[in-house]
Amino acid sequence: MSFFQDALAMFKKRDLLFLESYKESEDVYTFLFEKENDLNWIAGQHGLFTITHKKIKNKTRPFTVASAPAENVVRITTRISENPSEFKQAMLELKQGMKINMTGPLGSFNPEDNSPSLLIAGGIGITPFRSILKQIESEGNGIKKPIQLLYLDRNKSFIFKDELDAIANNPSISVTYLDSRDDLYQEIDTFTTINKGDDNYFIAGPKSMVTSIFDFLKSKQIPKKNIKKDAFYGY
Ligand SMILES: Cc1cc2nc3c(=O)[nH]c(=O)nc-3n(C[C@H](O)[C@H](O)[C@H](O)COP(=O)(O)OP(=O)(O)OC[C@H]3O[C@@H](n4cnc5c(N)ncnc54)[C@H](O)[C@@H]3O)c2cc1C
Repeated sequence: MSFFQDALAMFKKRDLLFLESYKESEDVYTFLFEKENDLNWIAGQHGLFTITHKKIKNKTRPFTVASAPAENVVRITTRISENPSEFKQAMLELKQGMKINMTGPLGSFNPEDNSPSLLIAGGIGITPFRSILKQIESEGNGIKKPIQLLYLDRNKSFIFKDELDAIANNPSISVTYLDSRDDLYQEIDTFTTINKGDDNYFIAGPKSMVTSIFDFLKSKQIPKKNIKKDAFYGY
């Protein structure tokens, strides 16, 4: 999506009806909202979500839409600690029938062409990749480009693991679960060696992790234009 499309999308605001929430793991929650027929996004995009059911100070956060458009529901999946921010406390208080406001969709975090793609997720940074891979799954086995997902979580708390394992039955898609940064760098090395040329890289997760992987890729002479990043602040 171009800068101008993103600028236009900033004016697209709508209320979404809250449906339900549930825990994915000890401290990760999913929130589902109704997808109206005229709401569309490209897998991997995010929205700006604003709390409307109560008055809080910082009432807006960017979140990836973690569902694929084909799933017909808007999903936010987020980490919520024991002492949540006012925003996340308000999310926990959502009840059926309440609404959240969404601006967007925004961004261009999506593998568009037929080049091999390496998707690198750190912890909660798995959300855009869930959406992207779910969309590919819903479109059938027609993809030709190899896609490899490297999913790093130091605590081995791999949310969406069952879904990702099912998606990895597609011969063009592989998923590797990792719990150490060294192993991650080794896997990246292998991928860059095999695919150097028209390969694309997507990194999502906590900002510090995204920055260090971006620097590592640059040190391997991967051109900046082949690397896309979704850096999550606040982790
Ligand atoms: C494109 C995008 C997609 C995202 N998708 C997800 C997602 O799918 N799931 C998810 O859990 N999170 C996602 N995030 C991160 C999310 O927006 C929140 O920042 C995060 O969940 C922490 O929120 P919080 O309310 O717990 O903490 P916050 O109160 O927001 O932040 C905690 C700390 O981070 C600092 N901080 C917050 N925002 C910024 C900023 N913009 N620049 C510098 N410092 C900042 C604050 O000062 C504070 O110290 C995404 C962020 C981006 C940019």
